[in-house]
Amino acid sequence: MREKTIEIFLFIDALGWKIVNDHDFLPELLPSRKKINMQFGYSSSAIPTILSGRFPAEHGHLGLFRFAPESSPFKGLSCWNWLFKPEGFWNRGRVRHHLSKMIKKIYGFTGYFQLYRMPVWKLKFVDYCEKRDLFVAGGMENIPNLYDVLSKKGVNFHISDWHLPDKENYAAAEKAIEKGKNFLFVYTANFDGVLHDKAGDFAAVQNKLAEIKDHVTHLFAKAGEYAKNVHFTIISDHGMTPLTGTVDIMSKIEKSGLVFGRDYGACYDSTMARFHYLNGHAQSVITQIMKEFPGHFLSEDEEKRYGIYRSDRAFGEGIFLLEPGIQIVPSDMGSKPLNGMHGFAPEDEHSFAAILSNTDLPAWVNHVADYFNLMIERAGQL
Ligand SMILES: [Zn+2]
Repeated sequence: MREKTIEIFLFIDALGWKIVNDHDFLPELLPSRKKINMQFGYSSSAIPTILSGRFPAEHGHLGLFRFAPESSPFKGLSCWNWLFKPEGFWNRGRVRHHLSKMIKKIYGFTGYFQLYRMPVWKLKFVDYCEKRDLFVAGGMENIPNLYDVLSKKGVNFHISDWHLPDKENYAAAEKAIEKGKNFLFVYTANFDGVLHDKAGDFAAVQNKLAEIKDHVTHLFAKAGEYAKNVHFTIISDHGMTPLTGTVDIMSKIEKSGLVFGRDYGACYDSTMARFHYLNGHAQSVITQIMKEFPGHFLSEDEEKRYGIYRSDRAFGEGIFLLEPGIQIVPSDMGSKPLNGMHGFAPEDEHSFAAILSNTDLPAWVNHVADYFNLMIERAGQL
């Protein structure tokens, strides 16, 4: 009889390569480790890439909002704009959180939905990419996701419920082991939140890593009670770049005389502005304005290299990426800068993701998109 193996993949959001090395994270337990190219974009792009092995150009997730007046699901909602005045009240964090929850319920969205700072009047011009829960059966429509592929292969697996806090996900993983599951994809997102707030605070990051280390050790030991071989691999999606400055692109564009929705469309993420030009004049004005800002419009080659080039330009006709460390404030994501942010150039030293394992890692695992095939390969060996 073959010895039982339990294969554990633990996803730690924002556990970048630089952080792993600066803090010398788990070198004895997981000695096999590699620097990984992040998926260009945010976790909203990386998660579908990890769950499918496909790039945003194919799975369609880059930035949560997308300028798409023809397909906006929120057209009806904008008629209620008068209700959402005064803006000051509706812009309060807690109020927007409840508003997001309400919209999510009304529309039946099962994915991660947050309005962030997107004003209600703009909603009729935009579409939202994560309407569905990506982690469950059929979550990525016609693209098979991890759940679909593991089910088809008859693997006895457990995938975390991403809605749950990390602690509960670690506990659920241990329960799954007790129930005999031998392939686990454990999702944790809290480290990302800590880094957004505490990037650069070495002691705070170290404390959080110590907490994670306890969870890892515990989970590892638990699996060891149920299997002779425990294959443990930590994967991450990106690192965290400390704040070095902010730029206010939105007001500059709005003061130019161009009208949103008539002359141009724009999505302002934390580190990039994605423009749609509705006439030639808007394109030349915006191109001129953007020369003042520290960053550049991605070339077609760059978009292709990052897996985000689409001939329908669904993500934006012009994608302007800020220099590492510079955040767009305000953006559609928030009105204040954060101490740390990700979503800058993948080549920046703070951007790289990491994979750490107690198993040998194949040479072909170099990019966040490669995790999927590694997981499927390992599941096939159980
Ligand atoms: Zn984040």
